[in-house]
Amino acid sequence: MNSPSLPSIQRVAIVGLGLIGGSLGYELKKSHPGLQIYGISRKATTIERAVGMGCIDEGATVYDERLKGCQLVFLCPPIHETIPTLKKALPFLSPGTIVTDAASIKGPIVKEADPLMPEDIHFIGSHPMAGTEHQGIEAAVKGLFDQAVWALTPTGKASPQALSALKNFLSKLPVRLLELDPEEHDLSVAAISHLPIAVASALVSLVMKNDQDFPAMKQLAASGFRDTTRVASGNPTMGADILINNRQAVIRLLKEFRDALDEIQIKMETGNYDSLLKELEAIKAFRDDIYPKK
Ligand code: NAP
Repeated sequence: MNSPSLPSIQRVAIVGLGLIGGSLGYELKKSHPGLQIYGISRKATTIERAVGMGCIDEGATVYDERLKGCQLVFLCPPIHETIPTLKKALPFLSPGTIVTDAASIKGPIVKEADPLMPEDIHFIGSHPMAGTEHQGIEAAVKGLFDQAVWALTPTGKASPQALSALKNFLSKLPVRLLELDPEEHDLSVAAISHLPIAVASALVSLVMKNDQDFPAMKQLAASGFRDTTRVASGNPTMGADILINNRQAVIRLLKEFRDALDEIQIKMETGNYDSLLKELEAIKAFRDDIYPKK
């Protein structure tokens, strides 16, 4: 149940209809039957498609009075459009509205969002930890959030009532909510999501640069290379957005990553088989613990 001072959530808006926004529309239809879903996106064709696919009930390319009837707004455009879309939506939001987002970085977003918020409109940062390497409304899929962790990064400015109303709403989705502070979120996702984009891209770049002299590298590439480099085929705009906006954390971890590579290299150079084996065994055990074999 929502807090008595906040309106109950009957109609939500999703701004930015792509992989995340469209898939969220599908999910909300399933987990909140009867909810009205209003979409805003940049292109009219995207709105038409999203309605046709059944992700939203109706939508528009402009921000207007129709937003007033939405008690909850999800901002799901590219990261660098999150704050601009918040600014466009704010003049049309009613008191008591909760605004959240999906951006893969949280520190810079909440830092910019918090001072923009009027007392009676509440921003709480979100990051659903689900995705694919595809983009745009055509990439929206049902079930994208099944078993996913949904990170929430409330700041001191967030109203406890709004946080509890948002958590209550999200608890109907098949996600696990994880509340943490924005900086801890950004360092953690830098390690498990953002640094891998840089590493996978560097690995592909190495093969690309050798392609002329050693075409067999590409020809021999099989499932190991595909699995290791999957995230290098993600949306390049999102990759650049992430690496620039979360660069402090990623650069800090890149240094640690180089040290880890150096440790392996030194063991190889010195031919220290036992030490290398021990290290690879410890790493395997840790990874197997993250992804237990079914
Ligand atoms: P996406 O597939 O490219 O979707 C974004 C959509 O936003 C586009 O389809 C575009 O639709 C629309 N858009 C672009 N500029 C806009 C603007 N100024 N105003 C309104 N709509 C605009 O990207 P995504 O993967 O869904 O990512 C969206 C957000 O989710 C990002 O913040 C990202 O960090 C976060 N996220 C992504 C993943 C992932 O794996 N992809 C995972 C978790 C979180 P039009 O056709 O109308 O231009």
